[in-house]
Amino acid sequence: MKPNFNKSNGLIPVIIQDEITLQVLMLGYMNADAFNKTVAEQKVTFYSRSKNRIWTKGETSGNFLWVKDMRLDCDDDTLLITAKADGPTCHKGAVSCFNTEPKKGFLYRLEQTIHERIDENFEDSYTNQLYKKGINKVAQKVGEEAVELVIEAKDNDAELFKNEAADLLYHYLILLKSKGFTLEEIEAVLKEREK
Ligand code: AMP
Ligand code: ZN
Ligand code: ZN
Ligand code: ZN
Repeated sequence: MKPNFNKSNGLIPVIIQDEITLQVLMLGYMNADAFNKTVAEQKVTFYSRSKNRIWTKGETSGNFLWVKDMRLDCDDDTLLITAKADGPTCHKGAVSCFNTEPKKGFLYRLEQTIHERIDENFEDSYTNQLYKKGINKVAQKVGEEAVELVIEAKDNDAELFKNEAADLLYHYLILLKSKGFTLEEIEAVLKEREK
């Protein structure tokens, strides 16, 4: 991969996108040095126009951006990087500098949070407490939430219905985790059926 730095005074714009939610996290610039360092370390380094030096995102905050995929645009003068962020990417504390909410990818972020609560054994987490009761208890809970949803489906209270629908989805994600499956694997089954 060889970006064309000549067209724009040695700097190319770089769009950073979250690998899971596909949310645009920030936009920065790279010169050749920053690009080479990014490729070598698989950690995003920009050229800072205000600092006049290369700058590894996260060098003081610790919120590094780990490269998952890199691609140039049609004429090699703009870079799109999908990355895994260690923490909020905006230095003002937001996940994204554009202050957008993840849309399509929200469930994946929720799944990520659920996995964190369990893998890091958060004591106070309801998710983790339920998980530790075992697959049978988790599956039973999914059954209960499904029944509650069925009951609300017969009724006409939109808020109650939406809440039960959310409960079911949330517990469903815990059940997938209990069984050792990910949402992506289920999505793959559905995609296959689309053919
Ligand atoms: P960091 O790279 O996260 O360690 O932050 C170090 C410094 O870089 C911050 O104090 C800001 O000046 C700047 N910075 C960090 N993240 C951003 C960002 N997303 N957009 C613009 N400037 C940033
Ligand atoms: Zn272009
Ligand atoms: Zn920002
Ligand atoms: Zn419920």
